[in-house]
Amino acid sequence: MNLARILETSTEVELPPLMKKSPPRLHPRLVVREHEEHDGKIYLAVIPGGKPPHFFRLNEVQWAVCQLFNGERTPAEVSELAARQLGVHISPEDMQGFVDILDRDSFWYHTPQEESVALWQEMVEQRHKRAKKGQDYGDLSTIVIASWDPDNFLNWVDKHFGWIYSRWFTYWSIFMLLVAIIILGSHWDQVWADSVEFYRLGGRGFSHFLAFLAAFFVLGFIHESAHGLTCKHFGGEVHRMGVLTIYLAPCVYCDVSQVWVYGKRLERMCTVFFGVWSEIVICTYASVIWWATPPGTFWHQWAYLTILAGGIFCVLLNWNPLAKMDGYLLMTEYFRIHDVKVVSTGWLISWIRKNVFHLPATVEPLRPLRCVCYAVYAVLAGAYSYTLLLFFVKVLYKIVYFYSAQWAFAPAMALALLIFKGRIKKFAKFMKELYLDKKDLLRAHWKPIAAGAAALLVLLLLPVMRETVQERFVLEPAQRAVLRAQVPGRVVAIGAEEGQRVEAGATIARLRDLELESEADHAAAQYRTAEARAFEAQLRYADYGGAEQRRMETAAAYRATRDKQQQLTVASPIAGVVVTPRVRDLLGSYLDAGADIAEVADVSTVRARIYVPESEVKKLQAIHDVVMRMDSRFGSVRGTVLSISPASQPAAGGLVETPDYKGIRLPEFFVVTVAVANAGGAFRDGMTGTAKIHGRRRSALAILLDPALTAAARRLW
Ligand SMILES: [Zn+2]
Repeated sequence: MNLARILETSTEVELPPLMKKSPPRLHPRLVVREHEEHDGKIYLAVIPGGKPPHFFRLNEVQWAVCQLFNGERTPAEVSELAARQLGVHISPEDMQGFVDILDRDSFWYHTPQEESVALWQEMVEQRHKRAKKGQDYGDLSTIVIASWDPDNFLNWVDKHFGWIYSRWFTYWSIFMLLVAIIILGSHWDQVWADSVEFYRLGGRGFSHFLAFLAAFFVLGFIHESAHGLTCKHFGGEVHRMGVLTIYLAPCVYCDVSQVWVYGKRLERMCTVFFGVWSEIVICTYASVIWWATPPGTFWHQWAYLTILAGGIFCVLLNWNPLAKMDGYLLMTEYFRIHDVKVVSTGWLISWIRKNVFHLPATVEPLRPLRCVCYAVYAVLAGAYSYTLLLFFVKVLYKIVYFYSAQWAFAPAMALALLIFKGRIKKFAKFMKELYLDKKDLLRAHWKPIAAGAAALLVLLLLPVMRETVQERFVLEPAQRAVLRAQVPGRVVAIGAEEGQRVEAGATIARLRDLELESEADHAAAQYRTAEARAFEAQLRYADYGGAEQRRMETAAAYRATRDKQQQLTVASPIAGVVVTPRVRDLLGSYLDAGADIAEVADVSTVRARIYVPESEVKKLQAIHDVVMRMDSRFGSVRGTVLSISPASQPAAGGLVETPDYKGIRLPEFFVVTVAVANAGGAFRDGMTGTAKIHGRRRSALAILLDPALTAAARRLW
């Protein structure tokens, strides 16, 4: 343990006298590589074995100046020398600042004694800061949860698995990729729908969440190890790996910055590429296992889980160039522009400051094409990161919603404020600057400005946007008919199979009942006899009344048995599709009256039941239209509202996110029933999706303020 670290634990220790620092000198272990970037040469440097390892970017002049420090010259002397030898004029104060900045990340060489003192000074300063400011819990952007030195682990992996970088293994992996593409391609609809479902997390319960987290961490660890291993393969060292949260979303990380020093451009791109490639390689084997094992077995399920977690969505997430992940690094390497997000955003902001607000700003002159690219990229990347941040807020809102629907907005608002704190401050500062800059202009032209403000207010109050309710739904057939045996009998014929389309009136089953048949024969014979007798009596004018009475009685009995016989033929009352499996199995069996034969569902139109929580019901007063999207397919369809349930009811199983804890009251829902035309028969019973119900038009201001106003009204009545 270092002496200075011990000092921190007790405050009453006598402080050692400050030692005088010797002039700066380059570290003997410093490794520097020259790189060509689009705006000139840069030098990347690292001190191997330094803890924590730091990584330096120097331009040509900075590196030339650094080399003048030999451990004897002071910053003032170097500033003089630089002017003479390099023709670079840097004031002694600026030179001291330059030295200090580099010193903060331990660029200069210090003797162990000096290091102890430096560490101690840092400790004292930190304690000062903490005492003054208190702990800063505000910054949620990244929090390191755990970190370790993976060097030994990666050495071990490199020793035993070095062959994964061989040529034959690469060819083999490409072959496996083709095999996996064929397997997954033939089940594409299913894999895509399940991938969406897997990443949706909602409505799947806690065990799904745990499985997701486990798969995510295991694959994340493999992914990051692949980055680290490749970095090692190209000569860099890897000393930091761990788990951190980015805006509370956990992820695994690995520091491979050394490859930026040791590796060439292609090698650096390989290091980035191998993260996702490792997951793809694992997925190819998982695809084969999934395909070869019977459904329901342990391996089958885990292989499928691996495909969902590490497959297409993993590639999309990691290689998206808008977030600072692998895709971003690949892009910056490919275009040779370092930190393109910061550069392009900075450029766009200064361009807007100068050209839109006419504030003082220096805009770097660029070629027109680059201007357009920077502007488009900065806007897209900005929009993406804001969407992502708002997504976290939404997730928190949904989680708290189970515990208290009324108070869910409070923690969500708090998180939003925390996340956007810095940005809000910046915006306020900008507005203040803008005001100060334009104060005189405002005074001079107050009339048109007031008119503009009034116009804006009117625009905000104009009812232009529609209120929207976005909720989950489940599909069911518009009409169903359950066919039952009305009289007992043996099944002698079946006219339809599962999935078969039948017209209204089509025969589905024919029954036979010998007893009924003989009864019918008997009734027919009696009727014929009675009819003949009645005719005879009419001719003879003898007891005609009695004979006619008898004829009518037997006729009624005969008709009744005929009706019963007709009921032996079971027909579908509606046109539709038979949904009962294995109807033909009934052939030859004896059915009692009332036994089920088959179910026919009319799917020419389907009905969607949309579950709207109580709090959103007020938006349903005037429904304009309903747009629906199935989970399993692209594109959306329109529906017509049939009814809104008069009373609330619990949601259908699995549709709405339900907590696993028994103690939490489930929210009640009102059901909006919507008819959707299904001419192609693409929509099936039980499909789920998300529907957007558009209500009446309201002003933008009203929609924005509505949640806050409702919350206030709820609490302050
Ligand atoms: Zn990665």
